[in-house]
Amino acid sequence: MALDASNKPMNQAIILQVPAGGPEDSQASESRWRRALGQLGDAMARHKGVIVGLQWLVVLVYFSLVAIPAFLDLPDEDARILTNLTLFAQFLFWGIWWPFAMLSMMLMGRAWCGVLCPEGALSEWVSRHGLNRAIPRWLRWGGWPFVSFGLTTVIGQLTSIYQYPKPVFLILGGSTAAALVVGLLYGRGVRVWCRYLCPANGVFQLLARIAPVHFAVSEARWNAAPRLPAVNCPPLLDVKRQAGTGACHNCGRCSGHREAVRLTPRSPWSEILGLKLDKAARWEVLTLAYGVLGIAMGAFQWSASPWYVQLKSRIAEAAIAQGQLWLLADNAPWWLLTHYPEVNDVFTWLDGLAILLYIGAETLVLGTALLLGARLAGLAAGFGASWRRLAYAYTPLAGISVFLGLSMTTISLLAPEGVNLAWVSPTRAALLLLAALAGLHLSLRILSGTPWARRLPTLLALSLGAAPVFLAWAYQFWWW
Ligand code: SF4
Repeated sequence: MALDASNKPMNQAIILQVPAGGPEDSQASESRWRRALGQLGDAMARHKGVIVGLQWLVVLVYFSLVAIPAFLDLPDEDARILTNLTLFAQFLFWGIWWPFAMLSMMLMGRAWCGVLCPEGALSEWVSRHGLNRAIPRWLRWGGWPFVSFGLTTVIGQLTSIYQYPKPVFLILGGSTAAALVVGLLYGRGVRVWCRYLCPANGVFQLLARIAPVHFAVSEARWNAAPRLPAVNCPPLLDVKRQAGTGACHNCGRCSGHREAVRLTPRSPWSEILGLKLDKAARWEVLTLAYGVLGIAMGAFQWSASPWYVQLKSRIAEAAIAQGQLWLLADNAPWWLLTHYPEVNDVFTWLDGLAILLYIGAETLVLGTALLLGARLAGLAAGFGASWRRLAYAYTPLAGISVFLGLSMTTISLLAPEGVNLAWVSPTRAALLLLAALAGLHLSLRILSGTPWARRLPTLLALSLGAAPVFLAWAYQFWWW
């Protein structure tokens, strides 16, 4: 039997470790784990003031580390993470915060957004004192997460955001300023920016879909409970239906509401299995294929790629032959292309063009292969219009890829500190294996009920779609 094309929610089985003592111990540990999670959610609702205090502390640290290094001299060769503020900020932003925020989405859902994000906290705070205008239609466009993710990723590469503090100030500071303006204009005490425009919203929502915990809602309890004032959900969700989904910020404010909302463990695949494949899901699949496994992969890889060097040489030869010598000039400002003559790091217009072409080409190749793989898999499985659910089987690969790519900066910053890095290569291989196995397991769950004669060609098509991504990592980590 093929997957239910009506997209009805399927079973939300809970995956548990079975202790050696047998099923009774298993049930006991399940209820202990459930109880502890429920209590954690309720504590978040009770101690909202503590969370707000924490958010202001993060805002303070964030502003110091975004702003101050932009006005300091660049660190010299002897500078170290613990003795130089610029390197410390670089390590904290790109070595810790960014890769581990991505990892946390897959482990804890969007708790980062709901509990710690300085931009979200500021946008919400300012909207309490703002104009409270209605949210315009253009702002609700479903393509913003994809577009803003792509643009910030590409601009970050052109300006070398991982290496220099000025582009950090420009891009992170600019994003925060935009979040404040949106907060001032729209909504009252909510996070319009986070819901519709944040550049990380698309990738965070996608990865949070496989988190093994969520705020579950008991519809029966909700309906039976007396009416209460609605919860002020920061990302403007209909709590009864959307608490605990990829869009939920896991802020905990609705925990215990009508005695129906509770932080609970779940199967990491349950949300994808029950997902409504609407217009928003189409954008999400595009973000998955062309964004997280396309643009981001190109951004992670161009600087290590010998093909990028070849591409640049070819364009340079053609530019010289055509007399287009302006391409070789390095007079672009730092906010457009990397420009730090004091450390001999200056991009020419040719560099900028070659980076754009390389990232664009890798995006097209990887993204198209993934979508073709999912489309063919859908045909093989007889899924019809529901083929996009199979594309979600690439979500674990997307999450692990983005973590591997971002953690390359962590490794490159730790190397000069004398840290032993012998574990890095086997860990990368183990994570890629985990991505493959998790994708396979999720695919089999999606195909549950489909005859094996259909499952095998479906799995083959999905594997062929993902193969270029695995190859790209093999080149980057072991073959180049
Ligand atoms: S549904 Fe809204 S209020 Fe409830 S945890 Fe999610 S973001 Fe917070």
